[in-house]
Amino acid sequence: MNHVVVVGAGLAGVRSVEALRARGFGGTITLLGEEQHRPYDRPPLSKGVLIGKTDSTIVDSDLDALEIDFRPGVSAKGLHTGVVETTEGELAYDGLVIATGARPVRLRGDGPQHVLRTIDDALALRALLTEGARVAVIGAGWIGAEVATAARKAGSTVTVVEAASFPLATALGPIGAHTASWYAQAEVDLRLGITVASVDQGGLTLGDGSAVEADVVVTGVGVRPAVEWLAGSGIALDNGVVTDEHLRTSLPDVVAVGDCAAWWSRRYGRRLRVEHWDTALGAPDVAVAALLGADAVYDPVPYFWSEQFDNMVQYAGYHDGARLVLRGDPAAGGKANWGACWTNEDDTLAAVLAVNRPRDLLQGRRLIEGGQRLDVHRLADPAVALRDC
Ligand code: FAD
Repeated sequence: MNHVVVVGAGLAGVRSVEALRARGFGGTITLLGEEQHRPYDRPPLSKGVLIGKTDSTIVDSDLDALEIDFRPGVSAKGLHTGVVETTEGELAYDGLVIATGARPVRLRGDGPQHVLRTIDDALALRALLTEGARVAVIGAGWIGAEVATAARKAGSTVTVVEAASFPLATALGPIGAHTASWYAQAEVDLRLGITVASVDQGGLTLGDGSAVEADVVVTGVGVRPAVEWLAGSGIALDNGVVTDEHLRTSLPDVVAVGDCAAWWSRRYGRRLRVEHWDTALGAPDVAVAALLGADAVYDPVPYFWSEQFDNMVQYAGYHDGARLVLRGDPAAGGKANWGACWTNEDDTLAAVLAVNRPRDLLQGRRLIEGGQRLDVHRLADPAVALRDC
């Protein structure tokens, strides 16, 4: 293998080029990035960048020392056997890493609509989050909650409209209801069970025909894998690029990583596509090993965190079909300090949620990885360390 092309210069892309060199690949590496920027981290965009704490989140990676042919502002438009079609002509490859991430979903309507995916999005939005500005956020998921937090810190008046009957519904299910009080405490007008019909000049039109007036509209209703450029290539696509447990795609010498990859999880016996920073960080080394002919398996316990309304929310695992045990009292006064565990039928831990309880996250993640049986009755008591359950 002489030439590896990495498409997508986000975290998964830059970790892929680092892994190629770390594993001794001495050939040519071309890194294509649609954005004009060097690879940067996205989690701080809705945290430090939005509140003005920092302007740059560039990943600490020396692309020159790694001898990478980095091409910012160049997009892949198509894929044929052994060739990537780009906005600057064709590029032949022996090995290909697909790391094109995901793009935010936008809603109907002709009104100005902000999304938050790129550093440019974040800097443009930050300028509008001012004292007294009326900000409407669509979606009370992770991004919506973090944008609402930043907007309130800036003194804006914030309305969050959510179609589900509680926040974080998609990620956490009903346990997300316990975060609704955070919105109230931050004086955010949280409107649940309400759909947005369109984003119009001057605000939102809701499903019932009523309106929310706003100077700034931010849509945070999720993302879709950025795989449109692969249409017609013959590669298997199903909610992202389909891969096996080694992150190999259906095409020879092509692997996929990060937000765009739907990989086979040996641990969960199903395909997962996880839009988390930890996945973009960890998957590239396995994918590159596969590309270079080794047999590594990608089989993590997914991990995610969010900082919202001055709370650190952390989650590890996968809880579909598992039993929920609430840990602590979300209604207790003072700073939130509670969590949840999800257990499997054999009393092993499937997932853990920790609100301002980093130790629960650490211990819970180890228990999930280790697969020990637990005394599930003790899980409900936050005074008992998880490792002692
Ligand atoms: P991306 O970061 O999306 O990078 C893909 C890159 O590929 C992009 O630069 C894109 O422009 C480029 N690209 C796309 N198509 C093409 C093409 N055809 N040709 C060339 N280039 C292309 N995760 C957490 O775990 N915790 C958090 O707190 C958290 N906060 C977040 C906050 C924000 C605002 C956002 C947006 C995400 C957050 N995430 C968080 C998620 C995390 O950042 C993503 O999971 C991670 O960025 C995925 O990395 P990636 O490299 O797979 O994709």
